[in-house]
Amino acid sequence: MKTVKIAHLYPKLLNIYGDGGNILALKRRCEWRDLQVEITEINVGDDIKPHDIYFMGGGQDTQQIEVSKELQKHKQFLTEERDRGAVFLGICGGYQLFGHYYQPHNGDRLEGISLLDAYTVAGNKRFIGNVTVETEFVTPKTLVGFENHSGLTYLQGETKPLGVNIVGNGNNGEDKTEGARFKNVFGTYMHGSFLPKNPQFTDYMLELVLGEELSLLDDSIEINAHNSLINKPY
Ligand code: GLN
Repeated sequence: MKTVKIAHLYPKLLNIYGDGGNILALKRRCEWRDLQVEITEINVGDDIKPHDIYFMGGGQDTQQIEVSKELQKHKQFLTEERDRGAVFLGICGGYQLFGHYYQPHNGDRLEGISLLDAYTVAGNKRFIGNVTVETEFVTPKTLVGFENHSGLTYLQGETKPLGVNIVGNGNNGEDKTEGARFKNVFGTYMHGSFLPKNPQFTDYMLELVLGEELSLLDDSIEINAHNSLINKPY
């Protein structure tokens, strides 16, 4: 029986708006299927060993400074992990650092680790509200959450959006895109937390790890939560 190994990156620094709930969703959807799951918290100073899934939540600019510096020590390793097919999920501030850099309003540019061909610059307004996105690779196609960021993210090269904004501002409030995907690296601005309200995406991540279709679960509560947010800006 394979054990799903999940690394929770810098939870003491990047874990706002309940983003830790994403780890709980992955854990419970394994346990409900009697799959073994192991979660390792990676904090500043820790070494990082190979995992199946790497998760990093969101945070304020100040916390991102420390994580940006720490991540540079692991850039090569995490790039190799991306290239062998490991699954990554970054939320908001974590997503921004999966790109090349985040240029906040004040202070130096925060270097990312370029898992995604994307960059972020601070905008002049804060995007706050619900988000509904239509994506192409999960069913149901809609993904829901809420956003609270001033960063504007722009995608380049082979990095594609997670989906198209139906409601909300997403990456930059201009090009109607939200989030990003390259190989099995995913980023999104959707807090919420994101995965509990989008069970089909949680299972999609687990199926990428396990290489097989998962048994169905009774998702009536999750789907009610999902539907309560669809197309509702506030
Ligand atoms: N500090 C970043 C921004 O404001 C990320 C915020 C977040 O993670 N919610 O864009």
